[in-house]
Amino acid sequence: MVEDAHAGEVVTRIAPSPTGYMHIGTARTGLFNWLFARKMGGKFLLRIEDTDRARSTPEATDAIYRGMRWLGLDWDGDAVSQAERAPRHAEVALEMLAKGQAYKCFATQEEIAAFREAAKAEGKSTLFQSPWRDADPATFPDLPHVIRLKAPREGETVIHDVVQGDVTFKNSTLDDMILLRSDGTPTYMLAVVVDDYDMGVTHVIRGDDHLNNAARQCHIYHAMGWPLPVYAHVPLILGPDGKKLSKRHGATGVEEYQQMGYPAPAMRNYLARLGWSHGDDEFFTDAQARAWFDLEGINKAASRFDFKKLDHLSGQHIAAMDNMSLMGEIEAYLTSIEAEELSEAQKDGLLRAMYCLKGSARTLPVLLEKAVFVLASRPIVPDEKAAKNLDDVSRRMLGELTPHLQNASWNRETLEATLNEFAEAKDTKFGKLAGPLRAALAGRAATPSVFDMMLVIGRAETLARLQDAAT
Ligand code: GLU
Repeated sequence: MVEDAHAGEVVTRIAPSPTGYMHIGTARTGLFNWLFARKMGGKFLLRIEDTDRARSTPEATDAIYRGMRWLGLDWDGDAVSQAERAPRHAEVALEMLAKGQAYKCFATQEEIAAFREAAKAEGKSTLFQSPWRDADPATFPDLPHVIRLKAPREGETVIHDVVQGDVTFKNSTLDDMILLRSDGTPTYMLAVVVDDYDMGVTHVIRGDDHLNNAARQCHIYHAMGWPLPVYAHVPLILGPDGKKLSKRHGATGVEEYQQMGYPAPAMRNYLARLGWSHGDDEFFTDAQARAWFDLEGINKAASRFDFKKLDHLSGQHIAAMDNMSLMGEIEAYLTSIEAEELSEAQKDGLLRAMYCLKGSARTLPVLLEKAVFVLASRPIVPDEKAAKNLDDVSRRMLGELTPHLQNASWNRETLEATLNEFAEAKDTKFGKLAGPLRAALAGRAATPSVFDMMLVIGRAETLARLQDAAT
């Protein structure tokens, strides 16, 4: 079992770069790391990779926090800022220098370009080979320099990846990468390794666009004598057409999904299934995902984003969720779209109506649209479709119906019987009554059943709305 490869506590992390919105792929990687850590009783850490000062913004960092919180991916301890750890990164580079695992390189951009040009002309590898690699320190000029890793030139580097299997890289294809720039700032490659080591990360689960980096990063681990983490490089998410998921296919930002009204448990379920499987299970709860998640279940092939499947799962989760949790999701959704908050009365109504709303809505806005009858207050203003059901004949009918409901016992059986009898007496069918009743009670053409609406809003409100419509 992979889980046993590292003795002791499992530590995973998600390390997003705050350079824009939070991508759905980052959310999925975060979810995998979170599920694995939670399943193993370990820790899940968050590191903001803000080394690129020009591109990193506080807004993008906030978007990451918001996305993580919405998805319920709670991280242990404080989030770590990579930029703040620059002195520690430099310290490691200098330690490698002192141990002879790294070297000062004084080559200028022009010299590197000339080297490449000459190599190209000779048909050789253009990978830069610094003349300073084995130079005598006595010959060092007093000039700006970078610190490069003294990477092995012979042989191979094999990454034992839980998802990809053994992946072999020829060392001749990996250059002596820069660890510390001439201004003393660390490179991304160095920072990632030092941070992962210092944070005690045992399992690196990330996108497979980082697989090549793993081959180079492991040389830093070797040079420092640090144990390698377990690697699991997860294939990227593709669009339905098999091309890399992009805006062209639809939303790629986590927050957009919240704004479209998918509840977080549905999103977690969908993202977990996107690239990981447990038998044929499609719908599962958070508890099941935590119990079942394993690195072996991560698919080797890239997965395609299927919007229909997300909708379907979302509907199932809405139907299965308890009312209070669903209310929490609705409130978070309304906040995310900057809509008005629900009043206490609206929340009460919504909770009473939930039983007849949650079975047929795939997203929260669809549920809220069905809930208009309990959210709106008199006078109910019919929308265009509903208004068509309120012609003079139906208005009159609603007026005539009202006295029949005045003394009826307010339960489903009696209401059904009363409406059916009324329809019969009018020589019509209940079906003909339903449209005008929906229009009067909800101002909509598509609503929960007329009886459910009457039961939820009660006798007085029902009568008042019917009278409003009749006059
Ligand atoms: N910051 C990198 C990214 O956003 C992740 C690096 C890593 O997971 O090692 O893609």
